Amino acid sequence: MKIAIASGKGGAGKTSVAASLARVWDAPLIAVDTDAEAPNLHLFLPPAIEKSCVSWLRVPGLDREKCVSCGKCRDICTYKAIASFAGKISIFQDMCHGCGGCFAVCHTGAITEDRRELGRLESGTVLEGSVRFLMGRTRIGESMTPPLLRQEHKALDEMLEAAPADALLDSPPGVSCPAVTVTRDADMILLVADPTPFGFHDFKLAHQAFLPLSKPVCAVINRAGAEGNEAGDEAVRAYCRENGLPLLAELPFERAAAEQYASGRLLADLSPEWRERFTALRDALRAEYARVKEADHA
Ligand code: SF4
Ligand code: SF4
Repeated sequence: MKIAIASGKGGAGKTSVAASLARVWDAPLIAVDTDAEAPNLHLFLPPAIEKSCVSWLRVPGLDREKCVSCGKCRDICTYKAIASFAGKISIFQDMCHGCGGCFAVCHTGAITEDRRELGRLESGTVLEGSVRFLMGRTRIGESMTPPLLRQEHKALDEMLEAAPADALLDSPPGVSCPAVTVTRDADMILLVADPTPFGFHDFKLAHQAFLPLSKPVCAVINRAGAEGNEAGDEAVRAYCRENGLPLLAELPFERAAAEQYASGRLLADLSPEWRERFTALRDALRAEYARVKEADHA
């Protein structure tokens, strides 16, 4: 089971929830940081990296000697990475999405193979070797994250094929292309709600964005019960009730928890009560997934 831990905005607490769930997971697990533009799962789960490799995207180059300026490559590129000026073709490799269209239509062999560095993929283990770990990290200056995320997902599938396990995906925040790329490939989505007015707004946006993916979606409120924010907590609860969104847990706002987070330690390690909260969340996730699967088969 691949579970995407997502949120409508950054700072809602998805990384901290993902890391503590990894701590209490009682089955083979891969903890995956897919927030490739700003990965930080490794701050909570310091990894022993065993493999680190550059991730490349195949992009077109141009052999001017062979180009007859027919314009077919320019016309097929919906991303406008190829243009012609005064009858001469120019390729803007930074804008290429790697779809391969120009390679397919060029009949003279003028389109050549080149590559652009997307970032790095690193893998290893965390939690004293008990949990496998995978992280994507976008190259500074690279503007496209989805191609790297697709390669990370392929790497994850290879790891799962080598040794079956569950996977917790610390997802990119928000509802942009990277977030949808990750959640689309998950079996289930856990949305972490920040019960502030801004957080609630983005939580609803995320729920609406992920609904068309037809995956089981459930929620957890982070920092619930903050003094003076009763209305915010209740707004999230009411939204979940009204929209059939299972609310699996409420993680309370506590000063000690904020200090634990700020020092890069796991909430699940704060106290037996906190550990039990994440154990219960783990069990609720499994039960919800089983319930949805059973309903699908009925
Ligand atoms: S399709 Fe090939 S030959 Fe035609 S303009 Fe593009 S590179 Fe040149
Ligand atoms: S590979 Fe696709 S996106 Fe890249 S330049 Fe060619 S047609 Fe455009």
